[in-house]
Amino acid sequence: MSYDLVIIGGGAAGLFAASVSNQLDLVVLEKKDRVGLKLMVSGGGQCNLTHGGYMSHFMGQYGGHKRFVKPALTQFDNRQTIAYFKAIGIECFEREDGKVFPKCLDAKTVVKALSTSITKASKKKIHVETAVVEIIKKKDAFTVITDRGAFDTRHILIATGGKSYPALGSEGDGYRLAKSFGHEIVEPRPGLTGVVSGKISTLDWSGITLNDVELTHVASGQTKLQLGRSEIRSGSGKTYKGDLLFTHFGVSGPVILNNSRVFHKGDHLLVNLVGVTSQALEKSFLEVAGDKLLAYWLNQLKLGDKFKAALLKALQLSGQEKMATLSKLQRKDMLKWLTQYEIIIDELQGFKQAMVTVGGVSTQEVNPKTMASLLLDGVYFAGEVLDVDGDTGGYNLQWAFSSAYVAVKAIEKNVMQS
Ligand SMILES: Cc1cc2nc3c(=O)[nH]c(=O)nc-3n(C[C@H](O)[C@H](O)[C@H](O)COP(=O)(O)OP(=O)(O)OC[C@H]3O[C@@H](n4cnc5c(N)ncnc54)[C@H](O)[C@@H]3O)c2cc1C
Repeated sequence: MSYDLVIIGGGAAGLFAASVSNQLDLVVLEKKDRVGLKLMVSGGGQCNLTHGGYMSHFMGQYGGHKRFVKPALTQFDNRQTIAYFKAIGIECFEREDGKVFPKCLDAKTVVKALSTSITKASKKKIHVETAVVEIIKKKDAFTVITDRGAFDTRHILIATGGKSYPALGSEGDGYRLAKSFGHEIVEPRPGLTGVVSGKISTLDWSGITLNDVELTHVASGQTKLQLGRSEIRSGSGKTYKGDLLFTHFGVSGPVILNNSRVFHKGDHLLVNLVGVTSQALEKSFLEVAGDKLLAYWLNQLKLGDKFKAALLKALQLSGQEKMATLSKLQRKDMLKWLTQYEIIIDELQGFKQAMVTVGGVSTQEVNPKTMASLLLDGVYFAGEVLDVDGDTGGYNLQWAFSSAYVAVKAIEKNVMQS
């Protein structure tokens, strides 16, 4: 038999594509023994399906990919996602931070709802433990070669995910398949990933969260060594705000994860630990100074005990010094420590731990309205296999759903017209 559509990959994008199709004879080919493995672990197993924000805000959550994602997100937005899930039995709710979850807070239920909506239709099938190894182009069709036989089809949707969390099935196969059709692959890198820092890992700060912290990222080329210490060239660096989490390996949390796509080994991160500018802090220091003890002033700052202890150790002080006895250099060093605490990136966590992949099938060769290949008729892409990655907060799953939706609707239109 020849299918209208073969969907390669039964993850978020592949399952959603199959689920929203009304008219196509289709089959989902999934290499693992179950579909939706990554979806099952998303949002800590609770499945942060999308974000409740306005679309104008939404588009800005995909790094430099705003122009490419806009048509698909406009055609199928977060409201439509929530409505669609409701229609297949998954009621959602929006948290205070805008993240949208299923009311059941159970990702497995979401996977089950999608799978059931597919398998109950006689025209749609799912084959698990079926790995696609090659796609052969024929005149107006394709033969998809798997380790369990061949499938003929007129359209192909490559929804194989990226390279992150390879244990869940996404091992970069889609890049090889896309390359075989001449598509360019933007070098895949781990995204939404923590920063490994040897210095932090030796401190006893694991588990401490700083809310809405100011973090300045300075690329390694923008630092210079001066008197044996690294100095940041003035005006360099980009500042971000968000929650930061100290971990056993370094730092993580939204402000790290969301911006990790622009971080590289050797770059510097400067963290403002006290939430006030260096100038304001110096003013307060000079106002309080005199006979007062340093410990007295430090106690007035919003600074946890572990940070205070580390600061005093780093500056070789006890806290019992009278503030007025501190030299100007000691004062400057202390202000720098508090407002520009320096973390050097030893490395980013790898694909094993990264939540998404940065890079993938180049968007230059894909139609943003339909996800159709601009190089070969009949080939479509959806989800993380494309060079699109979003921030944490539901943006990656929404991308998987929106791109899958527009691809399937374009294929349905094709099939109806022929
Ligand atoms: C721990 C974790 C938590 C996350 N939490 C969230 C969250 O809460 N909200 C959010 O928006 N995003 C989250 N993400 C990101 C989100 O899960 C992914 O962006 C999304 O699942 C990508 O969907 P996809 O269908 O493109 O790829 P995947 O879900 O990776 O699916 C690809 C599928 O293709 C299959 N496949 C691959 N190669 C082949 C082949 N050759 N033949 C057949 N099948 C193949 C794979 O086995 C896999 O099932 C999280 C990611 C991780 C790792």
